[in-house]
Amino acid sequence: METHKAHCLIFPYPMQGHINPMLQFAKRLQHRGTKITLATTKFVFKTLHEVSGSITVETISDGFDEGENGVAVDTYYATFQKVGSETITELILKLKDSGYPVDCIVYDAVLPWALRVAKSLGLRAAVFFTQSCAVNKIYYHVYTGLLKLPLEESKVEIPGLPPLSASDLPSFISSYGSYPPIFQLVTHDQMKNIHEADSIIYNTFYKLEEEVIDWTSRILPIMTIGPTIPSMYLDKRLQDDKQYGLSLFNPMTNACMPWLNERSTSSVVYISFGSIAEVDAEQMEEVAWGLRTSNYYFLWVVRESESNKLPKDLVKEISDRGLVSSWCPQLEVLAHKSIGCFITHCGWNSTLEALSLGVPMVVMPRWTDQSTNAKFVTDIWKTGIKARSDENGIVRRDVIRQCISVVMEGEKGQEIRKNADKWKDLARHAFDEGGSSDKNIKDFVSKLIQS
Ligand code: UDP
Repeated sequence: METHKAHCLIFPYPMQGHINPMLQFAKRLQHRGTKITLATTKFVFKTLHEVSGSITVETISDGFDEGENGVAVDTYYATFQKVGSETITELILKLKDSGYPVDCIVYDAVLPWALRVAKSLGLRAAVFFTQSCAVNKIYYHVYTGLLKLPLEESKVEIPGLPPLSASDLPSFISSYGSYPPIFQLVTHDQMKNIHEADSIIYNTFYKLEEEVIDWTSRILPIMTIGPTIPSMYLDKRLQDDKQYGLSLFNPMTNACMPWLNERSTSSVVYISFGSIAEVDAEQMEEVAWGLRTSNYYFLWVVRESESNKLPKDLVKEISDRGLVSSWCPQLEVLAHKSIGCFITHCGWNSTLEALSLGVPMVVMPRWTDQSTNAKFVTDIWKTGIKARSDENGIVRRDVIRQCISVVMEGEKGQEIRKNADKWKDLARHAFDEGGSSDKNIKDFVSKLIQS
């Protein structure tokens, strides 16, 4: 039997944007001698690609082993809590019987009931927040009642954050009342028991959100561990475990990477709206026209479930300059020298990945925390510009074409690239031996071993 100093059970919400960062954190713990088991639902397990590798993946049930299509969000949460609590307990007992007792559950903040499971079994509990410190601070402000809803002012002042207008806030707040179960989860349920957790982990790095991290640290003992990017992408000298992600979609590496290898430096526009956002047909058409008129090479990710909305004739017409892929190995793509800019929905992982790999962005936020991330990209880190939508919420072709040209060419583009290089270096420093995130991970493991 292998000997390990401690055993962590990693428990992400079963979605791409939650599994990726928690898996990368797990690998950092493993690198420091911790045994890792990752728990996911039976349904998600069946859809995972790249499951082989050094991390053991075990399944639990959320009560919907054949998928939860069409189930109301609040029903899903309640069922997951009930069935998940039972099945994760069974998994922990099974691991104990096999000679691998779990010492700590690292659970996703949006599965707050996992804390009770850990405590009832006498285990340490570490809560992992997959969103930015700024976004968590906004939710915490709502939780404590300091930010009253519906909003009374057009500008919101929160300590540690720049003044924010309503449209910069997460959609659950700016469109207060439109997603009650998610609003309840992010502004209340995920906050109410964090004081009982043994560790509070944030997927960000100190320099990136210095001011709001300092403010948050006055009320919560948070530790920053980001960027959760495999080391081989941050430092080409390092050889990482090839299994960098557990993908819910087939990443078509064999099509995308050889195609990019044929392109010259900084000549390609990469477009992706992540794993959940739905883009309507009209917006797809505007993107396609924007690409057509901008004349650059492009790699465009359109998930299979979205592909029926693609303007097929138009895409065919420009296919000599572009590749449409249903999913790509995004980190490999962003790290590729041919990529000149990233048109992104600003999911927190995509934002952190682009920042850490020094890729300039054109931001097109859709919902949830993306508007807040976009605000920081354009106004604070200054590594991108915003493609603004019209009064119908559509970003028009001319705006897209113009944003691409600003970022790919000209003075403003140069300034953005300079800033992007600066953040790439700072991300590297946080992650390097002795950097802020590296130190926090080391401390986390020391505490685990001593407990
Ligand atoms: N991703 C990927 N291939 C793609 C598109 C996205 O591997 O074609 C990954 C991306 O690297 C990121 C995650 O999927 O880690 C998406 O997370 P994010 O927070 O950016 O957006 P979400 O999908 O949660 O909206």
